[in-house]
Amino acid sequence: MHYTEPLYRSPYWPTLPLLEITQGCTHNKCKFCNMYRDVQFRMSPLEWVEEDLKEIAERWPKAQTLQILSANPLALTYDRLAPRIELIRKYLPGLKVMYAQTRVSDIRNKTVNELASLREMGLSEISLGTESGDDWTLSRINKGYTSSDILEQCAKLDEAGIKYWMSFLNGVAGKSHSIQHAVNSAKIYSMCHPKVIGTGGLVLFDGTELKEEAERGEFDPCTELELMTELKTFIENLTIDFERFITHHTVSANLNCRNFQASKHEILEELQYAIDNTDLDELARIRAAKKRL
Ligand code: SF4
Repeated sequence: MHYTEPLYRSPYWPTLPLLEITQGCTHNKCKFCNMYRDVQFRMSPLEWVEEDLKEIAERWPKAQTLQILSANPLALTYDRLAPRIELIRKYLPGLKVMYAQTRVSDIRNKTVNELASLREMGLSEISLGTESGDDWTLSRINKGYTSSDILEQCAKLDEAGIKYWMSFLNGVAGKSHSIQHAVNSAKIYSMCHPKVIGTGGLVLFDGTELKEEAERGEFDPCTELELMTELKTFIENLTIDFERFITHHTVSANLNCRNFQASKHEILEELQYAIDNTDLDELARIRAAKKRL
């Protein structure tokens, strides 16, 4: 198999099989991320993809899900992506879900018809690392798109029938803009139709601009209490329903649920309990010890 380190995959799907069709990230500039700093974005040659698919088909002939790697494989134009998706369908005809993580901006270079065609070929679900719906925050962390882009590109996915996940990066706006980040993200996400919303708590990893800014006093990280309060505000302000809510990095409480609106009250109670009863110093120690996602 042609895999390039670091091999990051969504932990919410079966670990294998994984198929790499690109390496690295086209953007590579988010201030909180150091994942692909040493990897140049490249497209895998079609021959590599075919070789890997033959191997996957031999090892997992009954595979029902496939994760396509790496950071943002949908950055490829339709003309480059379509032959790769078609090859997947050829070698793995029994797939039920073909899934990729990607950037909101990767949808821009595709029409609704092209997206619908990719959906027809089997690309059924993508995860968008939206991180925030607040324009100040998106600009502050150098995400490379705005809340209007999120609305515009998600509407195209809705029309094309591709399901999508959205992420909320708890704490990434820092102390000063925490509540604004939560309220505006909830407002923008509530104007979309995600299948899943996932939240992770910010960790200041070595080698990231945000950590360097924090060390210079230019970024004001939230305390554990502020992180949980921000998450609570985000949840309170989400008005849409969706299939699944996921949290990780907030180790004090299990807030994962299905059917969000039916569970919302319970999640908020659980979170308030965690706010009132968690050893926040221990939580801060656990977060500080994390070296990567
Ligand atoms: S967070 Fe995602 S889009 Fe941003 S630099 Fe890292 S891999 Fe690329």
